[in-house]
Amino acid sequence: MNHPAAVYPIDPDFAAKARVTREDYERQYAESVDDPAAFWGKVAQRLDWFTAPTRIKDVSYDLEDFRIRWYEDGELNASVNCLDRHLDKRGDKTALIFEHDDPAQPAERITYRELHARVCKLANALRSLGVRKGDRVTIYLPMIPEAVVAMLACARVGAIHSVVFGGFAPQSIADRVADCQSRLIITADEGLRGGKKVPLKANVDAALKLGGTNTVETVLVVRHTGSAVDMQMPRDRWYDAVVDAQPTECAPERMNAEDPLFILYTSGSTGKPKGVLHTTGGYLVYASFTHEVVFDLREDDVYWCTADVGWVTGHSYIVYGPLANGATALVFEGVPNYPTVSRFWEVIDKHQVTLFYTAPTAIRALMRDGDEPVRKTSRASLRLLGTVGEPINPEAWRWYYEVVGESRSPIVDTWWQTETGGILITPLAGAIDLKPGSATKPFFGVQPALVDANGTRLEGEAEGNLVLLDSWPGQMRTVYGDHGRFIDTYFRTYPGTYFTGDGCRRDADGYYWITGRVDDVINVSGHRIGTAEVESALVSHPKVAEAAVVGFPHDIKGQGIYAYVTLIAGEAPTDELHKELVAHVRKEIGPIATPDHLQWAPGLPKTRSGKIMRRILRKIAENAPDQLGDTSTLADPGVVESLVRERRVP
Ligand code: ATP
Ligand code: MG
Repeated sequence: MNHPAAVYPIDPDFAAKARVTREDYERQYAESVDDPAAFWGKVAQRLDWFTAPTRIKDVSYDLEDFRIRWYEDGELNASVNCLDRHLDKRGDKTALIFEHDDPAQPAERITYRELHARVCKLANALRSLGVRKGDRVTIYLPMIPEAVVAMLACARVGAIHSVVFGGFAPQSIADRVADCQSRLIITADEGLRGGKKVPLKANVDAALKLGGTNTVETVLVVRHTGSAVDMQMPRDRWYDAVVDAQPTECAPERMNAEDPLFILYTSGSTGKPKGVLHTTGGYLVYASFTHEVVFDLREDDVYWCTADVGWVTGHSYIVYGPLANGATALVFEGVPNYPTVSRFWEVIDKHQVTLFYTAPTAIRALMRDGDEPVRKTSRASLRLLGTVGEPINPEAWRWYYEVVGESRSPIVDTWWQTETGGILITPLAGAIDLKPGSATKPFFGVQPALVDANGTRLEGEAEGNLVLLDSWPGQMRTVYGDHGRFIDTYFRTYPGTYFTGDGCRRDADGYYWITGRVDDVINVSGHRIGTAEVESALVSHPKVAEAAVVGFPHDIKGQGIYAYVTLIAGEAPTDELHKELVAHVRKEIGPIATPDHLQWAPGLPKTRSGKIMRRILRKIAENAPDQLGDTSTLADPGVVESLVRERRVP
């Protein structure tokens, strides 16, 4: 942008009590990159190991001699680290607070002792059903405590879980089951979201009629809403019938650090989802360490991450990170706008949430409805806010900071990926000044770099493709069943580095700004324009709620800019506003970024995790609606049809 970014200096009160101060950050960051093995060896002591690791790091990105191994001679069990080791000191501490979809239902509080017992019972049940170390188990559940129990029970017996988001349809379930050849599925009769029932069991039934799914021997069904569902014996078993009578102790499997913990499919923003495989030791060290440091975790915090366990954010920052740290985590079944758009803030007040972590898509959606639904709640318990998933537009950042946080709580804008297992670029609130829209600085051990299209390293202030020069313990190890795709996607493009697929700018202060996905960068008359920047300029207009920007072929400029704009509630599209918005972008960024076409979009195509799918918008702009590619992860296909109908003819 033309004007320099605003800086929100470190809050001195926060810094006075923070886990990591500016000096700590600089010293520890230097240690972490100077001698990664020494640094990560020390960090690993935060976990309980059956056998402590002595070989800390063995990594080579050289394609001739490729390997990524962390803690390779260590042995541990993830569920023991999330449960058993807390029982002495924190047995009666609340591990999970469960808030139902319906606010009238009393919330449940589950202690570490109860959670341990529930996990052990299911783990015993899984063993009794023949599940063994290394078997794959698909979890297709709503956001209820059993989802957490199921993940940890798999970890306890060494089964590899694959959580499939409860919003996916039968074909998507079938694809994921077939890809990893699951032996067992854990589901529920129905889910509940925003007062609407989701037919989970019926979806599983439909999925299991599709090709490639005949590896499934058993379907365990949690009774959640209590509605009648078809049970096909002997395949289908009621969860309570199998689990209730099991003992509350279960011997954990001894897992090597490099044994797989889970497979999780990416969001599918850029194409067919990848089955990302994470292993036990490095992942758990990284998830728990980042959770403690980035959220500045205290013993008495009430932590709420609004993600679904179907996404990596739910894995690392609802389940494994918080529970390994003995924290109290809130599990929310519902949606931000049910029964009203104040729900998030009411839940914060009800449970006195101190740490709150959500996504830009939710913030933008709630911002559309104005300040009043927020202002009528207290939110006095909050002390730290976080975001993840997409670049956050500075306008949305300020609203989050000023209206939601009342300028009292710093925001951590955390950049990371399913592939990275945990947060890689983020402010630490006691150590790093904030700039709205920037994920700021690398976490310990993380070495970001920018390269141009030829792979030439760019120094200082620059914009290019974001790569990582070295490994960190939470890095994925392979694409399940397709190691070639792993190498090709991440390590072949810029040899010797991990390629993130994201574009990024580094400013004069060494701050990182994610500009969007590399595939989405627009090249106008030789100028590279990041989608995030143009979108943020549009969103900074008071009448705009959300915007998505893509390139389209242009005879003279090579590529032109095509913008899709969603207005805030109550605003109507007019020709005047159209002109005003084009002029606004011109003023904010410069003539080079002037949109050539602007289409009103009542809604934008998003993945089910809420990310804008620009590759689909690009095809609409190019007038190639027959080439939309994989649309199975779209949240609402109807949005696409209406955009195709309303397309502006360039
Ligand atoms: P696929 O890889 O299947 O196309 P996806 O990339 O959307 O899907 P995820 O792993 O869920 O799957 O998302 C990671 C991506 O989300 C990052 O590569 C980045 O583009 C974006 N992202 C996440 N957090 C941030 C953030 N704080 N700022 C900017 N972008 C972010
Ligand atoms: Mg990705």
